[in-house]
Amino acid sequence: MTNRTIYLDHAATTALDPRVLEAMLPYFTQQPGNPSSIHHPGRTALQALDDAREVVALALGAKLREVIFTGGGSEANNLAIKGVALAQQQRGRGNHIITSAIEHHAVLHAVEYLAQFGFTATILPVDAHGFVRPADLRAALRADTVLVSVMYANNEIGVIQPVAELGAICREHGVPFHTDAVQALGSLPVNVQDLNVDLLSLTAHKFYGPKGVGALYVRRGTPLLPQLNGGGQERRRRAGTENVPGIVGLAAALSLAEEQRDWYATHCTALREHLIDGILERIPGTRLNGDRAQRLPNNANLAFDYIEGESMLLLLDQQGICAGSGSACTSGSLDPSHVLTALGRTPEEAISSVRFTVGKAVTHADIDQVLELVPGMVARLRAVSPLSQEHAATLSAVET
Ligand SMILES: *Cc1c(COP(=O)(O)O)cnc(C)c1O
Repeated sequence: MTNRTIYLDHAATTALDPRVLEAMLPYFTQQPGNPSSIHHPGRTALQALDDAREVVALALGAKLREVIFTGGGSEANNLAIKGVALAQQQRGRGNHIITSAIEHHAVLHAVEYLAQFGFTATILPVDAHGFVRPADLRAALRADTVLVSVMYANNEIGVIQPVAELGAICREHGVPFHTDAVQALGSLPVNVQDLNVDLLSLTAHKFYGPKGVGALYVRRGTPLLPQLNGGGQERRRRAGTENVPGIVGLAAALSLAEEQRDWYATHCTALREHLIDGILERIPGTRLNGDRAQRLPNNANLAFDYIEGESMLLLLDQQGICAGSGSACTSGSLDPSHVLTALGRTPEEAISSVRFTVGKAVTHADIDQVLELVPGMVARLRAVSPLSQEHAATLSAVET
């Protein structure tokens, strides 16, 4: 029996760090100014905004004016994709976009949306480990390619892409390169110079900051049309009164995340390895989805043959264990994950997968607890699965 919640869904969101809340609080009540106002409270808010921008710029290796605050990761991705594509089209540069099959829907659906404005897209496949091949990008680039978008680390399987190499190829061809780095912040080094990127998305709630606030890095000189029109905020690239408490929280969370990055990566990797080894050793008919080595420190995505991941999530939840299936955004639908099918998993295999993502407060004992409970759950689900009856012989170890 568990007597507390074991939260293993950090890829979906993380809990606000109390120190971040502390930093945000004054900007709700004591310092309510609008950064665009000329008076003293306005100037105080503007100062907070400038300070936050400096923290983000410093962390990314960017200039202050290259950082645009947004309402989260989805908005940053939409601004990057639509903003660059439409600006490039306006300049007569072409209508062709390249992205990958395993992107977050905030990228894939933004690219699909652009079809009605005459854009076409090449969707790069991934190999069985989940990697985009640089040679495929090279082959897909055309004279009319206006933007390439490939994520840094995947939210479902945690696989880390060769972003610096992909970025170098884009630069050779003079094509702007965007990366969705939402899952990477706090776990991996994220320097826009080292990564050869022109645009990069991040969101605070994936690194113990508040929800609904993010940022887009845009390299100086990259064409970008604003996607929100109104006031002149964010150097006319994103209208609307800035979310000052949220932005202060984003910066505070980012500072902490950068400070703790080595510790965090080591802590999470140890828990992840314990979990992966434990499950693969204890339960026949299980496999890790995505490359074992080049993956986020906190991600263990596992396929359990002949069961439905969603049913497993419910059994886990009854024991106070929170995990995820494909992605938080599509749970509730029984469509197999587009990421797992892109890896070459069959729809049945994709549906049988569960994503565990560890974090700051997770302990070795928590993982022990999970390892104690999961084999029984898998046995229960397989006992009622018609598919597993047919394959009973290979699973006999579990049924006893
Ligand atoms: C969570 C996530 C997003 C969306 O960010 P929101 O702030 O929730 O809009 C985008 N991309 C990836 C890879 C994510 O994990």
